Amino acid sequence: MTIAILAVQGAFAEHGGMLDRLGAAHFEIRQAADLACPFDGLILPGGESTVMNKLLRDLGLFEPLKERIDSGLPVFGTCAGLILLADRVEGGERCFGGMDVTARRNAYGRQLGSFRTTAPFAGRPTPMVFIRAPYIAQAGPEVEILAETGGHIVAARQGNRLATAFHPELTQDETVHACFLDMVRSSRRRN
Ligand code: GLN
Repeated sequence: MTIAILAVQGAFAEHGGMLDRLGAAHFEIRQAADLACPFDGLILPGGESTVMNKLLRDLGLFEPLKERIDSGLPVFGTCAGLILLADRVEGGERCFGGMDVTARRNAYGRQLGSFRTTAPFAGRPTPMVFIRAPYIAQAGPEVEILAETGGHIVAARQGNRLATAFHPELTQDETVHACFLDMVRSSRRRN
């Protein structure tokens, strides 16, 4: 099982560290040529979603990745990565989409937008680091809500797409990455 990590911009390095701890092979996607390596799952990291959206198109990565995601490739977006997977983006543009959610960018305000908390993720207390984070302001009926804090949805899944408004890779807690690797394993069994 090999996981590709989008590494055109933002906080991609720590995802590799988390995957090392869980024993999953991984490599970084920086340009279209990197797509030649086979992979079973994709991580879209935090960063600046507007910049990532533009770089994905400029580097010729948008179309091939969208096609693979739309065909069922398991994908995990954190923070800006959540925004890239949302069908509707308040204060930004739609990128890959496919999750029937409205992502509100910089939802906690730009200055005071960074904080830590602990809240249940899929029922298990999980530390959460928020950095100028979005939250999910609205979710459709097909969306499974995995975590809420402060009255807002901060983690959700729809089919092959998993998204968190927080950065699990910046904590020592492997819960969310382990959940994603389970999704990748069951998708491999099906194909
Ligand atoms: N504020 C960023 C955006 O809107 C997301 C921040 C992050 O990924 N830590 O794209």
